Amino acid sequence: MQTFQLRRANTPEAAIRSGAAAKTAQQGADIRFLAGGTTLLDLMKLNVETPKQVIDISRLPLDKIETASDGGLRIGATVRNADLAHDERVQRDYPVLSQALLAGASAQLRNMATTGGNLLQRTRCVYFRDTDMACNKRTPGSGCAAIGGFNRNLAILGTSNQCIATNPSDMNVALMALDATVHIKGTKSERAVPIADFFLLPGTTPDQETVMQPGDLITYVTLPAPAKGTRSLYLKLRDRASYEFALASAAVVMTMNRGKIDKVSFAMGGVGVRPWRDRSVEAKLAGQSPDKDTFRTAAEAFLKDAKPQSGNAFKVELAKRCLVHTLDAASKLA
Ligand SMILES: Cc1cc2nc3c(=O)[nH]c(=O)nc-3n(C[C@H](O)[C@H](O)[C@H](O)COP(=O)(O)OP(=O)(O)OC[C@H]3O[C@@H](n4cnc5c(N)ncnc54)[C@H](O)[C@@H]3O)c2cc1C
Ligand code: SF4
Repeated sequence: MQTFQLRRANTPEAAIRSGAAAKTAQQGADIRFLAGGTTLLDLMKLNVETPKQVIDISRLPLDKIETASDGGLRIGATVRNADLAHDERVQRDYPVLSQALLAGASAQLRNMATTGGNLLQRTRCVYFRDTDMACNKRTPGSGCAAIGGFNRNLAILGTSNQCIATNPSDMNVALMALDATVHIKGTKSERAVPIADFFLLPGTTPDQETVMQPGDLITYVTLPAPAKGTRSLYLKLRDRASYEFALASAAVVMTMNRGKIDKVSFAMGGVGVRPWRDRSVEAKLAGQSPDKDTFRTAAEAFLKDAKPQSGNAFKVELAKRCLVHTLDAASKLA
């Protein structure tokens, strides 16, 4: 680990001012915010992240979960994953979010991890975390050791010939299905970014993962009020029952009307370079009967552009079954 200067910010504005001097907010940043530290400190120990300055934002007054005036929810960026998962409004109105959070990491990690840090957690591609290996995301232009290498847990949707890494977060999959908005404060302005626009595809610049700019601080995340009768569900498939990242996961948010699907939104994790959503597939489900043939047709369409790698072709069928099962189970919820 390289030496660094640690400072604590007492206000969001002070954090933003300090962070704005960074050369980039993406891979290779020389200034980083520290929230729970469960991603950042691991990567600093591995010399994958080498900031010269670390700004502790964990005590900023962004740790509240508040009911918004429109009936939605406003979640502060430093709210811990455990507190969010166990909040009674989240459990009642957004069970998919609570379930996704509780499917992630371990109780100890969830006690430390924050909403902002979870949104920005980095890929678990083994080559990204090993500085002896080629990795375009860590060192642009160095190549991608995962293509043709060990890629069992990597992506089949949205990949490029530069990077095939998955976004590893469970929470982000639920936020995608729930149409969350990420609120970002920078030196010049505040902006509200729909989560569908927050994560970038790897293309030729896999080191650029999000729309974040130097000094940008995630201040909170908002969720729209749930429509009456909304049911939601998260299913995570993985190699072992806990403390493991998803091979495939699905977050489903659904309303029913007289036995037919009224409206449904869903996203998948473990299969895409970002939490993966396809609104054209969702639209075709509206008005349909909730039977397994219908859901299988939707799953085929959702995965139609899948490009399996040498070690993860099994994910195509796994993802389809994961989606069919979750849609079916969600439609049967009371
Ligand atoms: C062993 C292990 C197992 C895990 N298993 C899972 C799992 O199964 N599922 C899952 O989803 N996750 C899993 N995780 C990941 C965990 O959820 C993340 O590490 C955690 O959510 C990150 O939050 P943090 O607050 O600790 O982030 P930090 O490490 O503090 O920060 C992460 C990044 O976000 C930036 N950042 C943080 N907050 C802000 C902000 N408000 N504004 C701007 N930038 C910010 C930091 O500068 C840093 O670059 C696991 C982690 C470990 C170590
Ligand atoms: S898949 Fe992406 S993160 Fe993994 S080695 Fe290739 S470039 Fe790096």
